Amino acid sequence: MTRNVLVVGGAGFIGSHTVLELMEQDFNPVVYDNLSSGYRDAVLTGNFVEGELEDKDRLVETILKFDISSVIHFAALIEAGESVLEPLRFYRNNVASTVSLLEAMQSAGLNRLVFSSTAAVYGNQSSDQLLHESLAMSPVNPYGRTKAAVEALLQDVADSSALKTVALRYFNAGGADSQARLGERHDPETHLIPLVLQTAAGRREQFSIFGDDYPTTDGTCIRDYVHVTDLAKGHIAALKHLFSLDDDDGFYQPINLGTGKGFSVREVIEAVRKVTGEDFEVGVSDRRPGDPAQLVSDPGRAREILRWQPERSSLYTIIEDAWRYMRRPAPG
Ligand code: UDP
Repeated sequence: MTRNVLVVGGAGFIGSHTVLELMEQDFNPVVYDNLSSGYRDAVLTGNFVEGELEDKDRLVETILKFDISSVIHFAALIEAGESVLEPLRFYRNNVASTVSLLEAMQSAGLNRLVFSSTAAVYGNQSSDQLLHESLAMSPVNPYGRTKAAVEALLQDVADSSALKTVALRYFNAGGADSQARLGERHDPETHLIPLVLQTAAGRREQFSIFGDDYPTTDGTCIRDYVHVTDLAKGHIAALKHLFSLDDDDGFYQPINLGTGKGFSVREVIEAVRKVTGEDFEVGVSDRRPGDPAQLVSDPGRAREILRWQPERSSLYTIIEDAWRYMRRPAPG
């Protein structure tokens, strides 16, 4: 087996950090991305192929050309709010394209895949306990349903073939590379931490909380924030786990990547005020459709199976790294 890994969607936020981490751990990443939301200059190392997931021939050709041994699949649309308005686009991009990738992997004889899933597959659960992988998936928006559909697909394919796959259910990714070489560059930005930081930097007049009437301690939604570099390390741990498994058997397992600790939107805003030393205006608007009140991981399985534990995921470190990236000097 080679250490050449195809990183589909490797030009995006979590993908590009994982590419750096792969290199650190002596793997050779080959990024395959259509640059619909990623950036060519975010791929700091390894080979790069611009291509569509729907283009099976191109995928097979790339897998063979670079003697690829395994795949990490990040490529997806991720905005829950948008998915409510454009479900077809989400199902095509997130589900149909994964079918295409799996078919290409099968034709090329590859059977190890790490898949980017999400805490959104849990949706609103009946109690506010930590979310364990054994809970039934119950997503509350089309984005979460596309990821749950892919997980069901992976389970079915693993049951009927030698596909070995881990679905990493990320909680809320944040932060940036500690040297500020990479960071979050969504356009338009919709995520909490970068939006609050942009407000602290004076780039937005005010920050708006989407609803403060949730059944939580302060009425705002609670999320489990995890540093992107920790997430990146989780992928390499998952890849190594897949290589430790028997070649002939199929395997599918969902694994949470989170810290087990939740923060409300108001707590994140306070932490941003402390880290940046800036004060700014905060308003409250209506709830955003499709937002569960609380998503906090049970991190036990990742610890036991992957030997993975977050190292940079304190809320302050996440915000400090994201703030450093936001204030990085302009290139050139
Ligand atoms: N949020 C907010 N205002 C914003 C953006 C986000 O109040 O302008 C809230 C959002 O409702 C959710 C939390 O921040 O409760 C995290 O949202 P984000 O979009 O960052 O991640 P998600 O949990 O949707 O994956």
